[in-house]
Amino acid sequence: MILLFIGPKGSGKDTQAAILEKNHGFVNISTGSLIRDEIRNKTELGMKSKELYDAGKYVTDELVFAILRKHLEELDTENIILNGVVRNTEQIGLTRDMLAEIGKQIDLVVYFDLSDQEAITRLSNRWTCPVDNTVYHTVFDPPHQEGICDKCGSKLVQREDDKPEAVKNRLNEDRTKNAPVIEHYREQNMLKEIDASKSIDEVSAEIEAIVTEAQ
Ligand SMILES: [Zn+2]
Repeated sequence: MILLFIGPKGSGKDTQAAILEKNHGFVNISTGSLIRDEIRNKTELGMKSKELYDAGKYVTDELVFAILRKHLEELDTENIILNGVVRNTEQIGLTRDMLAEIGKQIDLVVYFDLSDQEAITRLSNRWTCPVDNTVYHTVFDPPHQEGICDKCGSKLVQREDDKPEAVKNRLNEDRTKNAPVIEHYREQNMLKEIDASKSIDEVSAEIEAIVTEAQ
């Protein structure tokens, strides 16, 4: 079966994908890491992507979906997670058509719903060591001494991305883009909504139930 995961940064999509990989042999596919692989392997599609990256441009949907299709055709498993592949309404059709061409389809869409407040707690308490890039979280994974890197003793800094104002802006942007995507899959009766503010185990149990019921 093919699952599509949708949700904001910090909603636990990657953690849950890893659990499904371990317990049910799913293969987790995110386009970001596929593109990095293509670039590392110096394939034709990879070189085209690198050109765009180097010019400071986004990799086009055309290229992303060509890479995705190539990878899906090479996979010999039926259990696949498309992780964050559909981020706007245009990509709904691109994904559907690309999958149809290779005889596949999305079976279920799992939306990791996270309240803004919870997302801000998760994302805006991240502090980074400027020397070795170790990331700490003041609530979930604090350094032994406040504001100081455990490994090298440097003073921790907050990256621009992780400041509350930036996190809020990104969340709003995500919500605006995601809303019509979620609405589309809801109308198609494909949508399963999950309260992503629950614990990893609770969310995992919910996904387990969804997958079992669908199989
Ligand atoms: Zn450090």
